[in-house]
Amino acid sequence: MKTIGLLGGMSWESTILYYQLLNEGVRARCGGLHSAKILLHSVDFAEIEQLQTSGRWDEAGRVLAAAAQGLEQNGAELILICTNLMHKVAPAIEASLQVPLLHIADATGRAIQAQGLGKIGLLGARYTMEEGFYRQRLQDKFGLEVVIPAAAEREFVHRVIFDELCRGIFTDSSRQRYLEIIEGMRQQGAQGVVLGCTEIPLLVRQSDTELPLFSTTALHAEAALEAAFAELEAVVS
Ligand code: GLU
Repeated sequence: MKTIGLLGGMSWESTILYYQLLNEGVRARCGGLHSAKILLHSVDFAEIEQLQTSGRWDEAGRVLAAAAQGLEQNGAELILICTNLMHKVAPAIEASLQVPLLHIADATGRAIQAQGLGKIGLLGARYTMEEGFYRQRLQDKFGLEVVIPAAAEREFVHRVIFDELCRGIFTDSSRQRYLEIIEGMRQQGAQGVVLGCTEIPLLVRQSDTELPLFSTTALHAEAALEAAFAELEAVVS
């Protein structure tokens, strides 16, 4: 089992989920007292959010690249950025590493492809929904057509992420509105919806809708588990 490095704290509400999913995955594979080998660098999210809102993405990339290098130097054999949005600076982080960086959009795109879906809705932070770094990857690497909510809905989704979910606030009214926005994307032809913010699975669950939901948090954690056990499984089979 390889050691998994996590760049977390963005926000810590979802980093907890990664920690739990990785450990549950190791327990399911190995049983007994086995648990995941994890190194975590958890940032102060307020500092990162400041860099986001002031457009200092290069600086954010340098901060996260330095953190990722620290994880690698301490033994991480693969690295996850535990947020969709900060994959905006994934190229800078990846370039600073020798070990693989597992991209969250790749884990998600593969799962959507495996279900044979071609048109997909995307919820996430404003930048994730509106900019190319995420949508383009889903389109170019996985041939997916990506639908996003209307401007006022995107604003609502974004505000809930930063004002509520990342602060540990989960309300029925926000869940209800998210579900209406998901329904709106279904009416635009979306065959499923990417929960493209690692906190959204804490608010909206598959049991809330019949439309397939893709939890990027769960898919990313599963990709890490597959990579952590890849050689072992190759030896066993
Ligand atoms: N966790 C969120 C995401 O997956 C947003 C928080 C952030 O990284 O700014 O995109």
